[in-house]
Amino acid sequence: MAKVLSVRDLARHYDVSRGFLKPKATVKALNGITFELEEGKTLAIVGESGSGKSTLARQLTLIEEPSAGKVFLGGVEVNHKDKAQIKSLRSKVQMVFQNPYGSLNPRRKIGDQLSEPLVINTKLSAAERKQKVDEMMKIVGLRPEHYYRYPHMFSGGQRQRIAIARAMILNPEIVIADEPTSALDVSIQAQVLNLFMDLQDKLKTAYVFISHNLAVVEHVADDVLVMYLGKAVELSEKSKLYEKPLHPYTQALLSATPSIRPEEKRFKTIKIKGELPSPINPPPGCSFHKRCPHAVERCSKEEPLLREVDGRQVACHLAEQFV
Ligand code: SF4
Ligand code: MG
Repeated sequence: MAKVLSVRDLARHYDVSRGFLKPKATVKALNGITFELEEGKTLAIVGESGSGKSTLARQLTLIEEPSAGKVFLGGVEVNHKDKAQIKSLRSKVQMVFQNPYGSLNPRRKIGDQLSEPLVINTKLSAAERKQKVDEMMKIVGLRPEHYYRYPHMFSGGQRQRIAIARAMILNPEIVIADEPTSALDVSIQAQVLNLFMDLQDKLKTAYVFISHNLAVVEHVADDVLVMYLGKAVELSEKSKLYEKPLHPYTQALLSATPSIRPEEKRFKTIKIKGELPSPINPPPGCSFHKRCPHAVERCSKEEPLLREVDGRQVACHLAEQFV
């Protein structure tokens, strides 16, 4: 199948001020991220807040220029200096955010907000745009009369349907969804996840699905990338990862996930000690070593590189031990 997105050694560093007269510090928000995404597939990106997930999303939607590394969209290398190229690539990658209310204009009718991307990016007539918006509203489960209503007249779940319709209306190759269900009631979450999956079946859209919640990810992902402090620690096919997580951080995350099928709970809960370290001053060696229940002396000295173990990528010196 066609690769719609490839990312090679992507990094994003920020200079931050530490206060008057102190030298600036560099935050390595993202480091050495490499993955590929095929048409119609979903890559989930998982980690605690502060792991670099949203920074990664900003690089993929071309909002920011990475500090290093390459992004290819549909085989074309993204060149941030080429404004015309960025403009044409942007319509191929759309975004759905956590808070649908924040991404909708409170003073404009839903129908107008859904037509807007068509006005900007296509030459469709007003009648053709109306038809396209009506079709898309139907696909996401909105009624024709909703066209003339304002965002505050909708529930959270309906607003997220509107945001999804707006992301999908240009038929993008990729949708980046950043915690798209975390602001919704649990009862509504499943409906919105099912909508994402139905749309993917129909339209063959590829998703990068960002979440801190492994129970949600299990519904939607084909592959999972687990991030810790700006780096990939495990990249695996979903079933392998859920069956037998190899990185101790993945093990801890999974053990803390209330399972969708409690009878299948295979791990005893592993508590992660302490807080996520500061990305300004990450620990030497393995950046997880201060919190890892398996850490040995080598872990505090030598950084584990991502390597293939048991048919996936893992960055842990002791990965073989967990196979
Ligand atoms: Fe734990 Fe060491 Fe593996 Fe890091 S390299 S995850 S500290 S065992
Ligand atoms: Mg985030």
